[in-house]
Amino acid sequence: MRMENSIKALTFDAKKDGWEKSKGFVMRDVSMPVLDEKKNLEDALSVIVKIKYAGVCGSDRGLWYRKAFKDMVLSSLAREKKTLRITGHEFVGEVVEVGSMVSRLYHDPDEKNPVKIQKGSLVSGDSHVTCGRCFQCRIGEEHVCMNEAILGISIDGIFAEYVKIPAKNLWAVDQKRVRPEIAAIYDPFGNAVHATTVTDFRGQRVAVFGAGAIGMFAILLLQRFGAAKIIAVDVNEANLKMAKKLGAHETVLIKTHKKSNDWEHDAEAVEKIMELTYGKGVDVSMEMAGAPASFNNCIQSTRRGGHVVAFGIRDGDMTIPNFSRMIVVRGLTIHGIIGRQIFRTWQIAQRMLSDKSNGIQDAIWNIILKKGKGTILDFKKFTPASFEKAMDEHPKIVFKIG
Ligand SMILES: [Zn+2]
Ligand SMILES: [Zn+2]
Repeated sequence: MRMENSIKALTFDAKKDGWEKSKGFVMRDVSMPVLDEKKNLEDALSVIVKIKYAGVCGSDRGLWYRKAFKDMVLSSLAREKKTLRITGHEFVGEVVEVGSMVSRLYHDPDEKNPVKIQKGSLVSGDSHVTCGRCFQCRIGEEHVCMNEAILGISIDGIFAEYVKIPAKNLWAVDQKRVRPEIAAIYDPFGNAVHATTVTDFRGQRVAVFGAGAIGMFAILLLQRFGAAKIIAVDVNEANLKMAKKLGAHETVLIKTHKKSNDWEHDAEAVEKIMELTYGKGVDVSMEMAGAPASFNNCIQSTRRGGHVVAFGIRDGDMTIPNFSRMIVVRGLTIHGIIGRQIFRTWQIAQRMLSDKSNGIQDAIWNIILKKGKGTILDFKKFTPASFEKAMDEHPKIVFKIG
């Protein structure tokens, strides 16, 4: 059944907007997604979701300012022989229509599981649509699928009133335990879960470079996972204040100073971290800012034999000075973290968010989302200026869509 012919969506158009000469997203009318199994066999495995809330990610910011994902956006549009991309990838919404194979494949028959993937359910979902057929998918490493597509980047996303999504990506939400504004950010919270479970953090000294939303989620998790000392590092004082409230033991402000190259490390910040670790360096550093200098700050601040978790993304090359001496000889382990382990990460994210006793859900709502004050934006009232302002003022913002 078609409810309407057109819906509102936040978009980028490679032809009308152009990558080089524009910034931001444009609210446009797009056609209502439909399940048409006669035309498209895969629709039998998909659902239509009415989006309720949608999180705005650091990667949306990268896209907004055209600093990241250029190749992925433009080449995927060329492959699809179109120019318009619907943006956004963090969501919660209601399933309003299901394909004919969905209940057979994705409806959990366990009677004790209160949440199901079916019409009327509240669902979030992973933003990486994986192929299920490549080597990695077949051995349970879907997060590094060779043929993956990412919602809002290399396939149409969820900043829209209705979207069509493969049912295999969905995660049913128990509304009694997780409020919808928080359920909308399962995906980035999952990034933090993935990053904080990649190595053993028990008793470790950890520096989190980049106290944006995912850095803050990581701090909340590191506290519960038993890190001995958590050091938050950022260029923004307000973010550091918030990081402290969330449980960072120490904070280090990176001051802007003249550099010949943007990748050069910040000697003052590294020195401060050395002081805080009694001259040793941290056991694990987490790069969650995406700036080239930030990655070198991680390398310089990590002890011999330590771990560097690389998570931030920025287009272009970067330089790592003294690579052999700093990384090989010092025996560092570098972990690239992309997406979430589907659905192992989700299971942990679910526990950490829905168990009220650990305080994480309340901390996200009360401190990071400021109880909704200025952080929950009405999708219908979107303007580029007000959106940009909100993005600059808050580490995390969420659209209220339907
Ligand atoms: Zn995201
Ligand atoms: Zn695959």
